[in-house]
Amino acid sequence: MTWSFALVIEPAASDDPRTDFAGTFREIDPSAPALSVGELSTQRGDGIFESIGVVDGHAQETQAHLERLAHSARICDLPAPHLEQWRQAVAAAAEHCPREGEGVIKLILSRGVEHGPAPTAWVTAASAPDNTAARTRGIRVVTLDRGYSIDTPARAPWLLLGAKTLSYAVNMAAIREARRHGADDAIFVTSDGFVLEAPTASLILRVDGRFVTPAPNGGILHGTTQLSLFAHLAERGHEIAYETVPIAALSTADAAWLVSSVRLAAPITAIDGIEVPADAELTASINRYLLSPRD
Ligand code: PLP
Repeated sequence: MTWSFALVIEPAASDDPRTDFAGTFREIDPSAPALSVGELSTQRGDGIFESIGVVDGHAQETQAHLERLAHSARICDLPAPHLEQWRQAVAAAAEHCPREGEGVIKLILSRGVEHGPAPTAWVTAASAPDNTAARTRGIRVVTLDRGYSIDTPARAPWLLLGAKTLSYAVNMAAIREARRHGADDAIFVTSDGFVLEAPTASLILRVDGRFVTPAPNGGILHGTTQLSLFAHLAERGHEIAYETVPIAALSTADAAWLVSSVRLAAPITAIDGIEVPADAELTASINRYLLSPRD
């Protein structure tokens, strides 16, 4: 069953002392026109967003997503979001999600209309696609050059690497390129030979029993799913590490996953046509954890 819901938000200043923001939300018809043609989000992709997984009516890891929204706003010189206002908007959207099944709540903060008075903000909720096949049968990936080196984020902060901006045309093009190579998804690598992330997911490798993910200071998004899963694995006594991962390390992994808020953990079965061992039992237990209510 598909369903959807949308709410326009009048963004409050980050120091607004109100505690109840219900009056700043306006429910709209998600299938009706809602944005001005002067919107900079649609004209230039100038804005930021978050996608929150919803399981049985519960929005997962809301706080981590709100903190990343604030982080993206700082990088993009957007006004700091009022986190309590956004938390209440997420709660309002979650109330409209079915009590059973999976969905996705999206938060969007746009720079607004050119010369306009304020940023534009809205929240949507919709049913999630069925990701069972990716979670159980796995995905084949290819490495794709992201076109910059590992030190680019430090040298060129205006590239906004590490912010979740609305400009995802490159990410979507990478997935299409992966499909042209007969794969399901991509892993971006730097032009000087280091592993980054997937176009819409974080990469986790298991090497000699340690769980390793590329360090987020390399110009990638710090994934909320990876963060949550690392905390879970560490609690169970596993060794976890953030590292600068050379491309050669990919072939040393005895298991690998792409993890993200809605698809959750998709085991990687092949990288550039070379098979990667799968750990079906661990993958199932990881996805059971990711599907459990998480705050
Ligand atoms: N990296 C990129 C580029 C993404 O777009 C995403 C999610 O969409 C992720 C990583 C994973 O982040 P999260 O686990 O918070 O969904």
